[in-house]
Amino acid sequence: MKYISTRGQTAPMDFSDVLLMGLAPDGGLMLPESYPQIDSATLAAWRKLSYPELAFVIMRLFATDIAEADLKDIIERTYTEAVFGSSDITPVRKLDDNLYILGLSNGPTLAFKDVAMQFLGNAFEYVLKKKGERITIIGATSGDTGSAAEYALRGKDNIEVFMLSPHGKMSAFQRAQMYSLTDANIHNIAIKGMFDDCQDIVKALQQDADFKAKYNLGTVNSINWGRILAQIVYYFKAYFAVTDAENSSTDTKVSFSVPSGNFGNICAGHIAREMGLPVDRLIVATNENDVLNDFFNQGAYHPRPAEKTYVTSSPSMDISKASNFERFVYLLLEKNTDRVHELFDGVKSGNGFDLADVMEAVNSRYGFAAGKSTHADRLATIKDLHENFNDLIDPHTADGIKVARELQREGEIIICAETALPVKFAETIIEAVGAIDIERPAHTQGLEDLAQHVTVLDNDAELVAQEIRNGVTANA
Ligand SMILES: *Cc1c(COP(=O)(O)O)cnc(C)c1O
Repeated sequence: MKYISTRGQTAPMDFSDVLLMGLAPDGGLMLPESYPQIDSATLAAWRKLSYPELAFVIMRLFATDIAEADLKDIIERTYTEAVFGSSDITPVRKLDDNLYILGLSNGPTLAFKDVAMQFLGNAFEYVLKKKGERITIIGATSGDTGSAAEYALRGKDNIEVFMLSPHGKMSAFQRAQMYSLTDANIHNIAIKGMFDDCQDIVKALQQDADFKAKYNLGTVNSINWGRILAQIVYYFKAYFAVTDAENSSTDTKVSFSVPSGNFGNICAGHIAREMGLPVDRLIVATNENDVLNDFFNQGAYHPRPAEKTYVTSSPSMDISKASNFERFVYLLLEKNTDRVHELFDGVKSGNGFDLADVMEAVNSRYGFAAGKSTHADRLATIKDLHENFNDLIDPHTADGIKVARELQREGEIIICAETALPVKFAETIIEAVGAIDIERPAHTQGLEDLAQHVTVLDNDAELVAQEIRNGVTANA
């Protein structure tokens, strides 16, 4: 399996090279040349597999340059009950006859990003060892991504991590999660500024070609292909969990509702559907930052500038430019790489685009639908599930449930992705249901009491560069 860029100007590459990459050299995103097709007999056989077995049969189709025994080993070390709390890894629970919740947030940092990031950590270590390389991961985080990356990369050979976060802007729980780590390869840097300032510093360091080469700078952000790949697995797993082996044929379809920001999670669902998983609709749920809602309803994609991005109570979806969206548009435009290039160059210079003429394909051929949820919707949904279903969900998942219920058709089975656990966002939960004790997994008990390790720096890229120079031995 070879990988190509959505912009058509990058020579085909192998999985292990794509794994360590951010953007393609031509500015596009890497994708497999085609998506493998799964027939109904194969699908029936996969139904019996455990999570790691299923991950293996899916990933081997995409990671063809990794020896099968090695891939199996990486997967078996990743998807364990010890790391994800149950052998189901991503357990499904039933809310009512046609509405289910897919628990994706039972990993170390209590958000769905762990499912992919834990795989990436082990896969990175393996590939770097094979290539005899070292890598310096730099990232900017407002919470979930940074902690998921740190818990995935802590203690890994040949990897140093420098994670920038806005000083004093994260929740107490998020700070404790990241800053309490004591692994020598994890470097937390709090910048006196906002999340955007952190991101600008990361960009500035990446653009310094000499520095980038000297320290082999890399990222693990949401455009990483390995993350998308790992996320495909749980769409299959969830389908098997809610359909019944005896009565179901490929006529039984399910829909997914996915709280979305960068379009990474639901992009994996889109790929699963393209592979032949019987998915009816893929429902994009947004918060007040509703750029994707506008696209999937009207065909107009107009990303907001960063300063017009709303700060909401589902903060991990406060994104105005959906960085994975180009992967879908590439297919939608029938692989017309010139057109993709032109449209997304426009986005880069602050413009939007309008694809109203292909909306029929967006909705029918690709099954996309979308809806939006606000702060009031979030609170009402959390309260309703708490009072009437004895179930506590986090604000992001509440956006997914709200939109699922709003769009659900007669008889449609919808599985909503649970993208974080409520304890991470206690303030909003308490606003919704009043003061209650929010359950937390044993491994996070007393987290806030641990000593914290963080270097606070002024908003200056050179100061961060100096930290990296001090913390990493440069490539020879
Ligand atoms: C990252 C994140 C999202 C958004 O996922 P995308 O893949 O960026 O669409 C939703 N909810 C939570 C809790 C997240 O951490």
